[in-house]
Parts: sequence; C-alpha cells; structure tokens
Amino acid sequence: MAKKYDLIVVGAGILGIFHAYHAAAGKLSVLLLEKDIGPQGATVRNFGQVVPSGMPQGRWQQYGIYATRLYKGLQEQFELGIRQEGSTYIASDEEEAALLEELHEINRANDYPSILLTGREACRRLPGLKAGYARSALFFPEEVTADSRILAPRLLQYLTETMGVEYHNRQTVIECDSSRKSVVVRTAGGRLFQAKQVVICNGSDFQTLFPDIFYHSDIEVTKLQMLETRPQPSYTLPGNVLTGLTIRRYESFKECPSYSTMSHDAAYPRLRELGIHLLFKQTAEGTIYLGDSHEYQDAANAGLLGYEINDEINQLMLREAGRIFDFPIWAVRRAWFGIYAQHKSESLFQYSVDDNIHIVTAIGGKGMTGGAGVAKDNIRTLFNC
Ligand SMILES: Cc1cc2nc3c(=O)[nH]c(=O)nc-3n(C[C@H](O)[C@H](O)[C@H](O)COP(=O)(O)OP(=O)(O)OC[C@H]3O[C@@H](n4cnc5c(N)ncnc54)[C@H](O)[C@@H]3O)c2cc1C
Repeated sequence: MAKKYDLIVVGAGILGIFHAYHAAAGKLSVLLLEKDIGPQGATVRNFGQVVPSGMPQGRWQQYGIYATRLYKGLQEQFELGIRQEGSTYIASDEEEAALLEELHEINRANDYPSILLTGREACRRLPGLKAGYARSALFFPEEVTADSRILAPRLLQYLTETMGVEYHNRQTVIECDSSRKSVVVRTAGGRLFQAKQVVICNGSDFQTLFPDIFYHSDIEVTKLQMLETRPQPSYTLPGNVLTGLTIRRYESFKECPSYSTMSHDAAYPRLRELGIHLLFKQTAEGTIYLGDSHEYQDAANAGLLGYEINDEINQLMLREAGRIFDFPIWAVRRAWFGIYAQHKSESLFQYSVDDNIHIVTAIGGKGMTGGAGVAKDNIRTLFNC
C-alpha cells in the first residue's frame, strides 16, 4: 500500500467515470475501481440520449449543455461513437403540440437553439414516421447521441491511456476506513488502497457499502425494459427521437404554462400504469433501440422488482411504437432491463459519510446528460480545482 492517491472513485458507471475524468483533468492522481469485468449497470443499458432539452431550466439544463460540449470535444480527440444528430420531440395531439411551442419559447429566451416543425416536416426528417401520428415536432440541433455499450469502455480507455487514471476492474470495494487525513479502501479480494478522498458512485448497488444509509434514505430504484430490433437495411433514423408520452413525462415540459391543465393521457391507462413512454434511437450498427417502461421499489426492496422481462410490457411498447413508426424490420434482436436509482424528492443523492468519504448516486434517468456536470462541480468543491 505504498502509493497514496488523491482520489479513489468506486464504481465505473458514468458518474464514476466523470469524477475520475475531472479529477485527472485537475492533475490529481486517481484510482478507479469497478466490481464487474466492466461497467454493466445503467450506464451501458440505456438509450445514450444526451438531452439537455429534457432537463429543467437552470442547473440541470446547464449540466446537459456542458456534457454535450464535453462529449463533442472528447470525440474530436478519441473515437467514442458520439454523433451530433439532434433530438426530435414529436407531438401527437394539440395538447402536446402546445407544450412543444411553449418549450421552444422558453429555450429561445435562454438562447438554446430549437426549431419547430410541422407534422409534414417531421415526417421528412424522420423516415417512416406516420403522418397520422405526427401533429408537430420540436428539433434541438445541438444534441448528441451515444452508443452506450461502446461509450463507457472507450471513455475508460481514454482515461487510462491519455489521462493517467489507474483503473482496476473485478475489484469490489467492501470497506472504506477513514482516519483523519486519509481513507483505506479494502476490496473483496483483500487488496488495500489508500487515498485522501473517496467518492462512491455505486449506482443502484446498496448492499455492499454503507447499506443502512441507503435503506433508510428516500431512494427508490426503477426498472426499465428496453428492446432492440435487428439491423434495418437501407434505413436511417437520425438522432434522439422522443414522442408524445415522453412530452407528457419529461421534466422540462412540466415547466411549460399549459402542463398543469393537460388531460394527462387518460386514453392510455395501462401504458401509464407501467410507466411506458416511447423513445427511439438507431445504433451505428443500424439496429433500433426502443423503450421504455418504469416500475418502482424502495431501495431496501429492490429485489422485489424481479429478474424477469415482462412480455406484456414488450408487446405494449411494440404496439405503441407501431402507431408511431413504420420500420422496415420489427423483429426483436435483444430485450433487457436496466435499473437506476433516484431520490423521491431530490434530483440526486449526495451524502458525506465524513470529511473524506462521499456518496454520489441516484441521478435517475438523466445520468448520461447530467453526470458530467455533477462530477465537475463535486471535484471542484472537494479539491478546489
Ligand atoms: C433503460 C435506461 C435508459 C436510460 N436512458 C438514458 C438516456 O437516454 N439519457 C440519460 O441521460 N440517461 C439515461 N438513463 C439513466 C442513466 O443510464 C443513469 O442515470 C446512469 O447510467 C447512472 O450512472 P451511475 O454511474 O450512477 O450508475 P451505474 O451505471 O449503475 O454504475 C455504477 C457502477 O458502480 C459499480 N459498483 C457498485 N458498487 C461497487 C462496489 N462496492 N465496488 C466496486 N464497484 C461498484 C457497479 O458495478 C457499476 O458499474 C437510462 C437508464 C436506463 C436504465
């Protein structure tokens, strides 16, 4: 245990990766420890949509804008699979269309570019979009998309090869022992590492480190089902695509004046019960991701969410997707679920066990968009850099 790092980060999901990145960018010595062979949590199971447009105005949208610039800047130096193809929200009725117009105005006032499209223009932009569904659309040209299964390993490669971060996988941290000036971290294999500060970005793993803190918190976990079609021949769907039920769900729209008087999709009770709203994105391989659903449990009861894929959810998602798009191929290649943690009343869970050990998790469904900004602020606060 000769070497003492400035920072040990526990967990190589997107929050852990960006804490390590910002610390290394500030010339600190950093060790990143991951329990699995590589990140296998929410960070690689998600849509990879980087959507500041879906964040509340202010701090969170600014985090999203910061992350977008950072992803683009990193992509120029290193192949991460980041594509700037924008995000398109499609309204299916008058109420959703009104929200799009209001969000457009809000963003215009903030100098964040967006373009209103008619239904016909949306159909020209997004091949296969059904004219009967698309009432209007709002396009955010600056936004980017990532293939998350590729992004996380590439970011880790970038951190180790170009930024000097030391990264060890298959290292489950089971104990953090703090003295006045440093922390000793113990892994399940008995290895010991030492640092001035430890940041724990454990995602939704609450059983291993400080379980009581999580079990007595207001953190809940959410299980989301996802589908991926087979590759689509000669078909291109650009960017992040978000639809009517998403407009009714995302935080940015809750700030629009007419949100409070909406009828709230009484037409889709089962979709609402299962938290289904439809997002789409095409991968570099040509497959299409579509999802997702939302089922909830308190952190202490996460196991009750089960390990199964519910076929009713898959069928409902495919049926709703078929109302919106006409894809050449609907055959499903893969189905999976992801789990993320979120706090019931806060937008993030940050808790300092003592002066040296800090927990950062429960960023909910916005980690790929907001994670980099959170990490930047935390590293600045901890190390004044
Ligand atoms: C289906 C789905 C779709 C989503 N779509 C989007 C999207 O389009 N855009 C967006 O912005 N967000 C999206 N999200 C949310 C986003 O994926 C999460 O907010 C983000 O990945 C959370 O990152 P994290 O680092 O907190 O957690 P995780 O990705 O879960 O990472 C935590 C890591 O810590 C490791 N770990 C835990 N405990 C230990 C330990 N004791 N020792 C060592 N390692 C440990 C785990 O193995 C894991 O790798 C989506 C999420 C899901 C599930």
